Amino acid sequence: MKKFNLIIDGKQVSTNYYFDVINPADKSVVARCPKASVEQLNTAVAAAKAAFPSWSALTYAERRDYLMQLADAVEADSEAFMTMLTKEQGKPLKGFADLGAGFELGGTLAWIRATASMALEPEIIQDNDSARIELHRKPLGVVGSITPWNYPLLISIWHIIPALLTGNTVVMKPSEMTPLTVLYFGEIANTILPAGVLNIVTGEGDIGAAMSEHVDIAKIVFTGSTPTGKAIMKSAAMTLKRLTLELGGNDAGIVLADADIEAIAGKIFATSFINNGQTCAALKRLYVHESVHDELCAALTTIAKSMKTGNGLDEDTDFGPLQNEKQLDIVKALAQDAKERGANFLCGGEVVDETGYFYPITLVNDINDGARLVDEEQFGPILPVIKFSDVEEAIVSANRLSVGLGGSVWSTDIEQAQSIGARLDCGTVWINNHAMVQPDAPFGGVKDSGFGIEFGEAGLKEFTSIQTMQVFKS
Ligand code: NDP
Repeated sequence: MKKFNLIIDGKQVSTNYYFDVINPADKSVVARCPKASVEQLNTAVAAAKAAFPSWSALTYAERRDYLMQLADAVEADSEAFMTMLTKEQGKPLKGFADLGAGFELGGTLAWIRATASMALEPEIIQDNDSARIELHRKPLGVVGSITPWNYPLLISIWHIIPALLTGNTVVMKPSEMTPLTVLYFGEIANTILPAGVLNIVTGEGDIGAAMSEHVDIAKIVFTGSTPTGKAIMKSAAMTLKRLTLELGGNDAGIVLADADIEAIAGKIFATSFINNGQTCAALKRLYVHESVHDELCAALTTIAKSMKTGNGLDEDTDFGPLQNEKQLDIVKALAQDAKERGANFLCGGEVVDETGYFYPITLVNDINDGARLVDEEQFGPILPVIKFSDVEEAIVSANRLSVGLGGSVWSTDIEQAQSIGARLDCGTVWINNHAMVQPDAPFGGVKDSGFGIEFGEAGLKEFTSIQTMQVFKS
């Protein structure tokens, strides 16, 4: 059984304790993961702190060169990454609409290269006879990254590449559910990056909290649940850490009466069930005008019934298992509540295969606001479809929850769709699509979905502080 190691100061470091990483498709042990002690975390932070002066002194071009080499090295090992991702995360190698492990790997490469191509140049605020005022952006120091289990590699890249490019050094803690691809990435990265620039510390139970309190970590970037985001904010207060918190969502999509159902059904399906619904910005509540409700439900059901859920290593698998048992239990509990309320299950709704954490693609209608399946983030392959007659009601419904990551409006009247979209309380609005992200388009939540922006120039700026340089000429 392969044992992985921590990555500290450019070296692989073993630990006293290890824990099993489980393949969610068959509950077998994939490999053993090191459980770091808080002392080892402290060593990693010290290494990152020591590496900071020389790394931050490099130019953007020099750091870009390292990061581009990193992308090339990952690409050269694509197959190993994809297989490991499928084994520890559960997503199919290929999957429905090619949105499986290959998609995550392709996104990883695209994000490294696109982000590494950016730079933050100094800005001139004033330059006249009396003074020249310049705005410079400086790296913060050591950045702590805590990443989740739904896109282990891609979300790690979202955290660490902008941090490194802007001159910070990093200590990261991947999810204990899916640490292997990230540790493997760390092994490769440390053949390229100077020692201490990127450190990876895996553990369970105490490492995340110790990071958010750590006096030598300047910022935490976290992707995960709202309760844990709030806990991080609380423990980060004593050291006045900067934070980027990308927390859960419960995104609403609103389908208007004039929508072209044939044209949009496939996109609604794909963006609701992407990664088996385990996607922060997936479409999670579908509000449909009564005049097109039945047609859309029928179209979605036809697609759903043609899907195969199974082991992601099998070539014909469209959707894999849920990543972990806890998430499967959440999905089952929300489905049970919907059943007790008399909702109609168009397809799915019963576990048929207990070899792994499988749940079939499930569509539920005759359900309303107030049901747990509508009000709580399911983060799994079950979509509630809610019928409305007045679009004003749908807007109120979309905005009534405490979260606000994304939202969408589906219509052939783009102007009307945009004006409705502008009234949604969320960080990103898509018209005739959902869940689309790209390296140059800022992304982040409002309300309980967190704060701070990822991607694009706005995302880079989150990893810097401003230094204003005022040069007086007389
Ligand atoms: P959590 O959101 O609870 O995050 C777990 C991670 O946070 C672990 O790495 C843990 O480290 C760390 N952590 C826990 N407490 C603290 C703390 N006080 N300070 C700093 N770090 C801490 O993950 P779950 O797996 O429990 O997921 C729960 C729900 O989150 C899911 O059901 C889903 O709804 C949502 N989710 C959202 C995602 C998104 O993309 N926005 C991704 C994944 C899940 P340690 O083990 O050391 O405590």
